[in-house]
Amino acid sequence: MAGIQVKALVTAVADTIAAHAEELTALDQAIGDGDHGLNMKRGFEAVRADLPALADKPLPEALKAIGTKLVMTVGGASGPLFGTLFMALGKELPPEPDRVSLAAALARAIEAVAARGKSQAGQKTMLDVLFPLQAAVAAGTSPAGIADAADAAAEATRPIRAIRGRASFLGDRSIGHVDAGARSTALITRAVVETLEKSA
Ligand code: ADP
Ligand code: MG
Repeated sequence: MAGIQVKALVTAVADTIAAHAEELTALDQAIGDGDHGLNMKRGFEAVRADLPALADKPLPEALKAIGTKLVMTVGGASGPLFGTLFMALGKELPPEPDRVSLAAALARAIEAVAARGKSQAGQKTMLDVLFPLQAAVAAGTSPAGIADAADAAAEATRPIRAIRGRASFLGDRSIGHVDAGARSTALITRAVVETLEKSA
């Protein structure tokens, strides 16, 4: 992928996070501490500010730099987790990924997130979107289908009782709310998918 595409991807993701920051904050207010929107916005605006340097890097190097920046700037529980996701993707992806190599890299990167969070699917976290997202890519689902699957997976965190993250402190009261990190993961997924589709 050329520099232009890294730029388009970063811009699309930062734009969607900025546009939905209040929604993410509201979700985190319901069952967390209400900082997720600000955390994510701060992180992706820092990544956007790095674009002049990022855009010249091959995709794997750009992803590693994005992950490092997210760890430094997002904060909270989600910063190290999103940082791990992007850093691991940078480590696993070839410079010109196809669907098969993307599915394999995603699987490894998601494993790294789960290890870092000591978490697994079904605990009302970003992993509840990441696993179905990887499965959709591996199955050859259409781009629109992948984005829809991520949205549906985020919505499907609503009835779950949180087992990880701050929401777990609420026990049964975490039931009935969408997980903020799951929603931001779905937003990032749609932005990436739509950007890749446009440039295909
Ligand atoms: P904090 O919880 O420290 O305030 P954020 O609000 O930025 O951090 O992020 C919260 C999100 O992080 C949750 O909605 C959840 O998706 C994700 N999260 C928290 N802990 C874990 C974990 N152990 N494993 C996976 N995801 C987690
Ligand atoms: Mg929070």
